[in-house]
Amino acid sequence: MKKENPALYCRFMVDGRAYSGQIRGSSVDIVEGDPFAGITSQIRLSYPVERVKFLPPFAPKKIWCVGRNYVGHVKELDHDIPEEPLIFLKATSAVTGANDFIRIPKWAGAIHYEGELAVVIGKGGKNIPEEEVYDHVLGYTIMNDVTARALQNKDGQWTRAKSFDTFAPLGPAVLLTKELPLSTRVVTRLNGRVVQDGAIEQMIFPIPRLISHISRFATLEEGDVISTGTPQGVGEIKPGDLVEVEIEPIGKLRNICGE
Ligand code: MG
Repeated sequence: MKKENPALYCRFMVDGRAYSGQIRGSSVDIVEGDPFAGITSQIRLSYPVERVKFLPPFAPKKIWCVGRNYVGHVKELDHDIPEEPLIFLKATSAVTGANDFIRIPKWAGAIHYEGELAVVIGKGGKNIPEEEVYDHVLGYTIMNDVTARALQNKDGQWTRAKSFDTFAPLGPAVLLTKELPLSTRVVTRLNGRVVQDGAIEQMIFPIPRLISHISRFATLEEGDVISTGTPQGVGEIKPGDLVEVEIEPIGKLRNICGE
């Protein structure tokens, strides 16, 4: 028997209406429900991918982020390797969808892309042991942890630098699977040129450690996102730039930078 590939859940607009969808190759099927409550696919209607406008696949309850989780990135910013995961929050109002504009504020100094794999929590929990974390995972999506680098350095803490509107492009889909192969790569292209390419096995603190660590101080909730840190190769984006973060089994998160 052929093993079914994990579903790729998305939200999209077509002809002015929003739908839940499942991406199959180059088309998107309309489905009912959502992956948290359950998906049913009785509606036999699908659209070519290029005809739909992707929305963020869901509204995250919280966006946990991990700083300095790849050695190459820690070194490029001239920091020390952290002794435990470095966790911060990004405002949920920063979320925007695939193909939407990243708005670059003129006054904020250098703005950087950070391509990242994001874990979607499907079942909440507290004090989750590392051996049990995958019971709490709904799936995986892509986030660009856009950062006002100059303000991050100036402020000393990161809330403002990470939370401008549109600084959390998310999507285009959630891959509904518990665990990804460690060879999964996070590849970022800036105007078509590869600028980041890291395998998730290079994470200093792997996904089980991250989930367990956060759940020791905060209750993880259904709909939380954990963005797992960025590989080496961050850099500046300016109005007119095209930035694409690709994680092969999930898809490509593509955004144009505007003012
Ligand atoms: Mg980051």
